[in-house]
Amino acid sequence: MTLSKHNIFSRIADSDEYFIVNLLTGNADILSAEQAQEVIDQRISNTGEFTEKGYLCDEAEETRLFRKRYADFIDARDKDEIQLFFVPWYSCNFSCTYCYQEGYSNLHTTPSNELINSFYAYIDREFAGRKKYITVFGGEPLLPGEMYKTVVRRLLDKAKEAGLETAFVTNGYSLHDYVDLLKTYKIREVQVTLDGTEQIHDLRRPLKGGGSTFQQIALGIDRALEAGITINLRVVVDRQNLAGITDLARFAIEKGWTKHQKFKTQLGRNYELHYCQTDQGKLLTRIEMYQELYNLIQRHPEILQFHKPAFSISKFLFENGSLPSPLYDSCPGTKTEWAFDYTGSIYSCTATVGKKEEALGTYYPTATKKSELIEQWEERDVTSIKECTSCNLRLACGGGCASVAYNRTGAINSPDCRPVKELLELGISTYFVKELE
Ligand code: SF4
Ligand code: SF4
Repeated sequence: MTLSKHNIFSRIADSDEYFIVNLLTGNADILSAEQAQEVIDQRISNTGEFTEKGYLCDEAEETRLFRKRYADFIDARDKDEIQLFFVPWYSCNFSCTYCYQEGYSNLHTTPSNELINSFYAYIDREFAGRKKYITVFGGEPLLPGEMYKTVVRRLLDKAKEAGLETAFVTNGYSLHDYVDLLKTYKIREVQVTLDGTEQIHDLRRPLKGGGSTFQQIALGIDRALEAGITINLRVVVDRQNLAGITDLARFAIEKGWTKHQKFKTQLGRNYELHYCQTDQGKLLTRIEMYQELYNLIQRHPEILQFHKPAFSISKFLFENGSLPSPLYDSCPGTKTEWAFDYTGSIYSCTATVGKKEEALGTYYPTATKKSELIEQWEERDVTSIKECTSCNLRLACGGGCASVAYNRTGAINSPDCRPVKELLELGISTYFVKELE
């Protein structure tokens, strides 16, 4: 018997207690300082709870279980729903300070019916028998004006014809004007970005040429919620606006959004994507962002009414009372996610869409595939990335983002490490020790 290779063990932030988590066996416990010392000194006994829970194990048996769970993971993923992004244009009416699409070429045209039909024919053929939905992405997909609305209507009609739900990722500026159209279709959700309350949001996300956008976005969110459309409010966070999340949380609470059944939130970390950020000093690392959030939540626990940070698998454990299944791969690109743009190109996901040199094929005017490149994407997981094969965090981390890894190392099959242990220290403290809610 030996300690499992999958134990994640550390001291809980601001506490004398420790945690031990094992994603392979699905167990998690809080340990006293004395129990933790036994783990550290490897003095734990072969019998009893530690063996039952798989913290202490027989190596060969653990390898068998690892293989079995891997097969289960692949099976489940093969049955999973696919998210298909469609970019009708890269044009946008905002000039966000951190926009990663600044360098993209824009033809200022709208896609033809022929191209839209080809997209739907392609996904019907390629993903036949799979559950799927469309997410319309940009640029800004909900631009003002009849020319753009006609295309959105066409995309929605074709999705309806195919029996598919549609989601949108929008800056929200014209959402109020699109609600009457959207509410007549099956809309999965509309993701809207607000980066804070009015002053800070407008500083970061003004109209092209200048001009406030906050009030009009808030109006769009109100109208969408009234119409029963799910809003997924996204806050893109860096050093400039993280502290302002407290005010945004209060604003959303006062608006009644946080009590609305169709309202949810997500935090996006501002990080270097395809084009250089104007001010790299503003960017937070993943752990810096979560550490700052943790500190803020201690002082302003009402933030949790607005957004409950994941802190790796901590929130899941807190809300479900059990651990998620082992994550052998955290990157959905080419497995359960693909992206298509108006030039007829196909990409792995939203991180690569529009980067011509990273295209994986075309769906218009003819269908083509870069099979070797697609295989590299498909094969990437914690069993194929060398660094991950011996990492105790692998079943919580899943190898991270392939695009970030590729940008850093030049190889798709390389790691994008997540600070899982540190995130659990913060998350278990927040949800289980301090019981903040
Ligand atoms: S490459 Fe990154 S952004 Fe793209 S699907 Fe994978 S994890 Fe997501
Ligand atoms: S990406 Fe890094 S942290 Fe994640 S499993 Fe691989 S080696 Fe471990």
